[in-house]
Amino acid sequence: MTPLRAVAALVLLAAGCFGLYELVESPRAGAFQPVVTHGRGHVVALTFDDGPTRGVTDRLLGVLEREHVPGTFFVVGRAARREPALLRRMVADGDEVEDHSQTHAHLNALLAPGALDAQIADADDAITAATGRHARWLRPPFGARNAAVLDAAARHGMRVALWSAMLDETSPHASPDALARRLLAQVGDGAIVVLHDGDQGRDDAGERAYEASLAPLVIAALRARGYRFVTLDELVASSPG
Ligand SMILES: [Zn+2]
Repeated sequence: MTPLRAVAALVLLAAGCFGLYELVESPRAGAFQPVVTHGRGHVVALTFDDGPTRGVTDRLLGVLEREHVPGTFFVVGRAARREPALLRRMVADGDEVEDHSQTHAHLNALLAPGALDAQIADADDAITAATGRHARWLRPPFGARNAAVLDAAARHGMRVALWSAMLDETSPHASPDALARRLLAQVGDGAIVVLHDGDQGRDDAGERAYEASLAPLVIAALRARGYRFVTLDELVASSPG
């Protein structure tokens, strides 16, 4: 293969990957329904993915408690197993604890029979062991979903929630103010906002945990815009149809 052909092939591959992402994983994609990406009304749901992480999630819970803001935590099962006390504190504080899979897998790429169910069930088991409650929402990692993922969520009694506002992973070197502005620019009525309080459920805080420290800035700015903060359940309950 000539270098030019190799470059052309790479460009095509990249375009194909992006096209596939837009079709299958982007929250805007309509290929697989039903998924919840936002609600209605002058309310916002703050959701936190990929934790819990000791030292990060604790601080975040302190902020939410002080500000009287409820959060919705999409925990990774393997992290939830390590930190049951953090899950119990979430429930005690009035936060929701929901399912973000056992190991942060691409659920739409699991081909082995049972693997998809295990990803959902194992995380839910970790949540139930810590809190006595089952998850009611599944957020597939990366937003990766297909008909099998939606069926599996329904089998486990869960609805599928994505998001309407999230920072991209290339952001970490910007200042906290710039990052908060970038996120806030995506927020409108009924927004489902994602911040990360961990890194795919690994036991170190990881690359994206800096997002959790943006919570005070985001809360103050949205409060100034008159938004009321609700959990995901409340957001959906107050958004009929
Ligand atoms: Zn995630």
